[in-house]
Amino acid sequence: MSRVMIIGAGGVGSVVAHKCAQVPEVFTDILLASRTKAKCDAIAAKLPRPVRTAQVDADNVPQLVRLLKKFKPDLVINVALPYQDLHIMDACLEAGVNYLDTANYEPPDVARFEYKWQWAYRGRFQKAGLMALLGSGFDPGVTSVYTTWIRKHFIPKPETLDIIDCNAGSHGQPFATNFNPEINIREVTAKGRYFQNGRWVETDPLSVKRPFTMPDGLGDLTIYLMYHEELESIARHVPGLKRARFWMSFSDNYLTHLRVLENVGMTRIDPVDVNGTPVIPLQFLKKLLPDPASLGPLTKGQTCIGCQVTGRDAKDRRKTVFVYNVCDHAACYKEVGSQAISYTTGVPAMIGAMMMLTGKWAGKGVFNMEQFDPDPFMAALERHGLPARILKKAVLRGG
Ligand code: NDP
Repeated sequence: MSRVMIIGAGGVGSVVAHKCAQVPEVFTDILLASRTKAKCDAIAAKLPRPVRTAQVDADNVPQLVRLLKKFKPDLVINVALPYQDLHIMDACLEAGVNYLDTANYEPPDVARFEYKWQWAYRGRFQKAGLMALLGSGFDPGVTSVYTTWIRKHFIPKPETLDIIDCNAGSHGQPFATNFNPEINIREVTAKGRYFQNGRWVETDPLSVKRPFTMPDGLGDLTIYLMYHEELESIARHVPGLKRARFWMSFSDNYLTHLRVLENVGMTRIDPVDVNGTPVIPLQFLKKLLPDPASLGPLTKGQTCIGCQVTGRDAKDRRKTVFVYNVCDHAACYKEVGSQAISYTTGVPAMIGAMMMLTGKWAGKGVFNMEQFDPDPFMAALERHGLPARILKKAVLRGG
């Protein structure tokens, strides 16, 4: 029996609302709140049971605190944008509410994501007797659960981790991003970074790539080394790792568009004076691009996201295991009206909330996904639409 407030009514917020509504025994009362109430109402109208909706500007902490004190949720699921994370954490502390998100804080004026800002809240959440769970999406999120699950059941001494995020789907648009375009383009155009022998190695944006054959005959893609936020928390919480990298697939078409947009300055995040009006080019571009939520009915094909871990098993033998999920865009759309990128983020957000509300994952302070027992989360993934597949061999070769 619990009350949950979902903040954000975009592609991911819609999936979280659908999935929470499917589990009434845990999520008794749901409030979906966002900047634009009409978007909440449109989602609510498609849900299998009634949920409340509200307008809120999550950057306005007093306004959010008032809403929290009125609805009195046990937990806030933050699926607005990374810019809101700290404001929502502040409001949760003031109103005495637990917190969960799927992406770490980013300052709007610098394309830089790090956990340091949110980890700095640890003492305040501890003192308030509250729990904050960071990064409960797929990546970050399930990728940390896979890593700790492989460590628990197959490779107690992990040495290398490669997180591989492939999208073999197609939406037929000349150029579109599968989640918030501003956040997506900031992430992709940032420098690459990976963890090696206790240090971070930096690479130029998308300068390291290799061909990759997806398992189960899903096809061949090119994957690019990128920095991704879970590398920071995994490097801290998974002892013994000598190397941790993150790879993502991009089509040539996507990269060609991105290169042109970058070259003409459309991905800049500093204001440009346009006839006396300051305009941030990337925010203007976001207005022109298709809304990711609109891609649901158009996207066909699958995503394949997983973790390859190499290391030593309990008998000190060298082992490699790849744990992954394959998710079908059209099947997601049929179930909840969204494509697989929103689905693979929204389902783990609901499951993280379920872990907290049922006490399977508990603590006071600020936590990342690797800090908890992966077993109940893996069991819930199986039940709620994202079953894992296991290969006891390398899919990414060549060091
Ligand atoms: P969208 O842009 O589709 O949706 C964001 C929603 O947040 C919109 O409804 C927007 O309102 C609302 N919002 C923005 N600012 C505020 C504010 N100040 N107060 C209240 N509501 C606000 O994004 P997505 O659904 O694609 O992504 C949601 C989150 O999920 C992002 O943080 C993203 O980084 C994260 N994500 C995580 C992944 C993972 O695997 N861990 C993968 C993909 C995404 P409005 O409609 O008015 O603009």
